[in-house]
Amino acid sequence: MPPLTDSLFPIESPQSPPAAGFALVAVERALDHAPEGLTYLVGQSLAHLPEGARILVPLGRGNQPTAGWIVRKGTDPAEFGASLETVPKLKSILAQDESEAVLPGELLALARWVSGYYACPIGMTLAGILPGAVRKQVGRVTRVFYELAQPQADAESPKLTKRQREALAAIRLMELPAEQVAVLAATGLSSAQTLKRLVELGCLRTSKRTTVEASWSMAAVGSTAAVEPTALQHEVIENIANTFGAFAQHLIFGVTGSGKTEVYIRLIRRCLDRGKKAVLLVPEIALTPQTAGRIVARFPDSRVAILHSGLTAGQRNLMWSLASEGKADVIVGARSAVFAPIPDGSLGLVIVDEEHETGYKQDSAPRYHGRDCAIRRAQVANCPIVLGSATPSLESWRNATKRKTSTLHRLPDRAPGLRVPKVSIVDFAEERRQFRDRRVHLIGPTLADAMRETLADRGQVLLLLNRRGYANYIACADPRCGWTAQCSECDAGMICHQDRIASLQWVRCHHCQAEQQLPRSCPQCGKPVTVFGLGTQRVEEELLGLFPMLEEGKSLVRVDGDTMQTAKHFHDCLARFASLEIRVLMGTQMIAKGLDFPSVQLVGVVSADTALSLPDFRAGERTFQLVSQVSGRCGRGGNPGRAIVQTFFPENPAIRLAAAHDYESFANQELRDREEFGLPPARRLARLTLRDTSEAKALESAQQLADELRSIAAQSKQAAEVRGPQAARIARVSGAYRFEIELQHETAAEISRILAAARSAGLLPLGEHLAVDVDPVS
Ligand code: ADP
Ligand code: ZN
Ligand code: ZN
Repeated sequence: MPPLTDSLFPIESPQSPPAAGFALVAVERALDHAPEGLTYLVGQSLAHLPEGARILVPLGRGNQPTAGWIVRKGTDPAEFGASLETVPKLKSILAQDESEAVLPGELLALARWVSGYYACPIGMTLAGILPGAVRKQVGRVTRVFYELAQPQADAESPKLTKRQREALAAIRLMELPAEQVAVLAATGLSSAQTLKRLVELGCLRTSKRTTVEASWSMAAVGSTAAVEPTALQHEVIENIANTFGAFAQHLIFGVTGSGKTEVYIRLIRRCLDRGKKAVLLVPEIALTPQTAGRIVARFPDSRVAILHSGLTAGQRNLMWSLASEGKADVIVGARSAVFAPIPDGSLGLVIVDEEHETGYKQDSAPRYHGRDCAIRRAQVANCPIVLGSATPSLESWRNATKRKTSTLHRLPDRAPGLRVPKVSIVDFAEERRQFRDRRVHLIGPTLADAMRETLADRGQVLLLLNRRGYANYIACADPRCGWTAQCSECDAGMICHQDRIASLQWVRCHHCQAEQQLPRSCPQCGKPVTVFGLGTQRVEEELLGLFPMLEEGKSLVRVDGDTMQTAKHFHDCLARFASLEIRVLMGTQMIAKGLDFPSVQLVGVVSADTALSLPDFRAGERTFQLVSQVSGRCGRGGNPGRAIVQTFFPENPAIRLAAAHDYESFANQELRDREEFGLPPARRLARLTLRDTSEAKALESAQQLADELRSIAAQSKQAAEVRGPQAARIARVSGAYRFEIELQHETAAEISRILAAARSAGLLPLGEHLAVDVDPVS
């Protein structure tokens, strides 16, 4: 880099040698006044550091040395917002960080895109996408190695003591350089004192090596045997493999059990054969030993890195180092694996399984969507991206069928040996009439009979209810009183939970986690309190009553956020289901995905209506996905299996079409509706939420921001629509009032332009009072 003109750097003192240029530096905190990074001078001695290097900079009044990343380098002051007056005031980068970490250029490019697209300052973005364990260098150890300073180091020199001579003689016989512990063992020395002296005398030389240490093992699960692809699978593999070497988007629309994973595995193999690396993103919930182990088993000679939430900090850092040293050939992980530090030029394939999953969306800043980042990552790496799903998101379906920006590949049939489950819809209003008593029933006679048959037949049952707790509505028994249990900090009802064994009931808010005892009597009128509605705990209670042979926690296990607090609980539970110890697995959507157990003969959806009642334009889409995914869990043995879906809305198209396995009709109709009503994906959306404990303050700042956004939007011919502010659906959470502003436009580019302009004007200080969500998923 050529040095800058002298006029810019008039004062040169020994403390500040001439600068070689400028750098934008991202420090890991939200400095919203510098969304693209802070400008620093780069001294001559650090001029060699590339973009992406981790460095230390003086920060704030006290010039506190703070770690950060160089996000851009250059010599033109104008590009760094520097002028003749401001340059002398700039501070200089202090040093390279001792981790010597450097982010690959492709990763940095992706991070810059995330920062811009999701309107999140670059420092906050990097802090959000790089694992904390990497920044803190957990598990990093430095070892000292010894070798001879000169090949003929004289072990007979009279200058040396006897002990030193003997040590040197022993060292000469070793394979060098050798690590300190090995040297001590070979020489019989008890401390490194003598070795240090030999270094000072010029006989030995030391070097240091830093490695990340953590234990790492991933057992292969299942058979390593490859199946022969069907003609259709083969065609999909060939068509996608033909696009290797350049950016191309593909959507595999294949029913559950159609062999999509088999296609991914073959494509990864082809990618590795070309000497490139592959990334496979899966939903967190699918990172079970089952899926991950299956991949590991199929690549016995390659290094497969599995990034899941159960890793220790040291293991996470180890994975990161392996990836950045180019030692991991395949990286399998949840959404954050899209940010694996694969060396530039070596990524050859990105795959996103179950691309419709909302779990790919990060719910804290930067609020990125893992799938969209994966598309961007493939673009930066110039390689193909493959999205796969049995129920593609409408965004991806539209890209493949209308916009034709991606190629659609269909796998309409289940893999050989798998049968299509028969799905029956049960009208629950009808079923209820068959009960003679007036008690609440959640399992109707049709589902109960099918369960009885399946259990008698030694089959297994999966039961889904997407709502945890015991009951979701707590009210005064007297309807004229009207009291209901509400959270004191949130505008939301409390959910009843119970501990059956201790026979205790209490209420909890699912928004702020506040808990209290279930009131015995109505605080307004003293009459008794009743609980209504659904929850997994209530289903569990009913099942134990219906099927005396089921044992709680043994043959019947409930899977939800309350019982499965860590990934390990869930993994253990799946292992027990695989061993047939568990006969009935009942729970929330955690059990709807990716499970592949051949003895599941019956799947029951206790209520398909839990999502339908939400005021969300994606309610139909979510319901369709849930019903299709869960019914795809059976029919994996030789037996076709059946699914029973209980609903009060048997005519609802989402439920009817899911039961008929007709995704295309559903998606096409839903897309037409979204276009008609101007909803995503036909239009793009960004939501800004303002929060404050004072309602007036929250509203006032929301009003101001909305006005500013309107005037920015008006600068464009095809102005975006700015809606609001309006109170959020749940207007108060944890004591904070929330108002929302929505930005809508046909193009993502215009939304980005407005957000960028607002950000440069300092209007978007993300944090406690403001959240920006581009392409929100709920
Ligand atoms: P998906 O990912 O689409 O749900 P999988 O790839 O998990 O489907 O395949 C479902 C089951 O079918 C797996 O047990 C898999 O081993 C098997 N399978 C996939 N492709 C074939 C094939 N060509 N021949 C025989 N079995 C297959
Ligand atoms: Zn609350
Ligand atoms: Zn009352």
